[in-house]
Amino acid sequence: MAAMTDHPAYPRFVEIWGELADLEAAEQLLEWDQDTTMPAGGVEGRARVSGTLARVRHERLSSPELAALAEELAKEAPAGSIEAIQAAEAFRSIRQAERVPVALRAALAQTRSRAHAAWEDARKRSDFSLFEPQLAHLVALKREEATALADGGEPYDALLDLYERGATSAGLAPLFTELRRELGRIVHAVADSGAELDTSVLQGDFPVDAQRRLGLEIAEALGFDFACGRLDTSAHPFCITIHSGDVRLTCRWQEDDFLPALFGILHEVGHGLYEQGLPEAWRRTPLGAAVSLGIHESQSRLWENHVGRSRAFLRWLLPHLRQTFPVFVGTRVDRLWPLLHRVQPSLIRTEADETTYNLHVLIRFEIERALFSGDLRVAELPGAWDDLYAEVLGIRPGNAAEGVLQDVHWAMGSFGYFPTYTLGTLAAAQLFAAAERSLPGLEDDLAHGHFAPLLGWLREHVHQHASRYTPAELIERATGKPLSAADFLTYIKQVTHEVYGLRL
Ligand code: ZN
Repeated sequence: MAAMTDHPAYPRFVEIWGELADLEAAEQLLEWDQDTTMPAGGVEGRARVSGTLARVRHERLSSPELAALAEELAKEAPAGSIEAIQAAEAFRSIRQAERVPVALRAALAQTRSRAHAAWEDARKRSDFSLFEPQLAHLVALKREEATALADGGEPYDALLDLYERGATSAGLAPLFTELRRELGRIVHAVADSGAELDTSVLQGDFPVDAQRRLGLEIAEALGFDFACGRLDTSAHPFCITIHSGDVRLTCRWQEDDFLPALFGILHEVGHGLYEQGLPEAWRRTPLGAAVSLGIHESQSRLWENHVGRSRAFLRWLLPHLRQTFPVFVGTRVDRLWPLLHRVQPSLIRTEADETTYNLHVLIRFEIERALFSGDLRVAELPGAWDDLYAEVLGIRPGNAAEGVLQDVHWAMGSFGYFPTYTLGTLAAAQLFAAAERSLPGLEDDLAHGHFAPLLGWLREHVHQHASRYTPAELIERATGKPLSAADFLTYIKQVTHEVYGLRL
């Protein structure tokens, strides 16, 4: 039988998919521009342009021609062939696009932009009531969307699936229960020990230019290709892909603390390396993109936590750090390393340490489930939030800005997104443990700045597969077992034991 790529339907199918990818590339570039350089006066006009592009892409995706081509390929391609998987993946996107009525789509877009503006104002004034009506409206619309997408299934699961294919709340609940119990135990043990780490060595003046130079040097050393990428400044760090030759990272700088930018860059470079490692042959096809947000986050967390916070990496980094900031001349690895593994409950998720971070995520997961099951009303959100913080982390927000209003996700209608942060964290630990097993010289490599073997392992086991496997399949193939919290908890207990001398 001739290759399916010779099938008469295939070239046209790929051509349309390529156009969808191009439209998305234009949307991404506009988004990058909006978050980095666009003047404030551009907001309204930009919303119109983005809206038009999104509408054209949606029309193209739900065109009868594309559905017919995908159907023909699905019918005639041998089961398990790349073309059959591409057709199935195309169907998945087409079905998702079709299930949400055009009027609901428009109402969501409008409510999202109003809710975002209301949230910004509410957060500035730390007053939830300014956000509540818009949020209530948005949640009602999202419930409608979730019900349409679920097609008889669990509505909240349909939202989870948008970000993490195959994820369900029933599947996530046991993971979060285990994390809550085990991490809660660690947080209590550290608090009871009364141990305080001396962080004075981290204080100083760290000029932004110097931080940026160091950041670029690190990104390049890890393997990020600046011929096909950039690093810019934005209020919130992110990584965005325009297309395969143009992957953009952003960072935020603080003059009095170099750690947020350092770990922000390690994190975003992890995302960027994944994007730059996606297979060229599948670009602009339904299989060419990263498979899920959770797998994406596994790549950023792996470089940020398992490489960046390791003694081996610090050994390589310290000479560069001393050259950039002479204040570190005389500082040793053993003085810095414990400070990267502090355990300290705090109110703001994005500033949380690697142990308490997942407790912030599980609070949001609990709240979202309750919101979508109808157990919690939007008006009750601030109270529920504060109670959960007191219960899980032992601290209570003093106001709504450092409580329920801190994250932008709900104002954007991104319900079901938060759990991917934890899935990624768990997958990072499991992938790194597997990489350690198959690369016996890994620690030595990291200490000498040889990052290529680890990157090569990730390219082989994660990046090159793009969307070919589901996230669950990908992790099981790469690590030999289904995703669990085991490797992450082993790692956290080990570092906490070494830093605080606690048996956990
Ligand atoms: Zn990330």
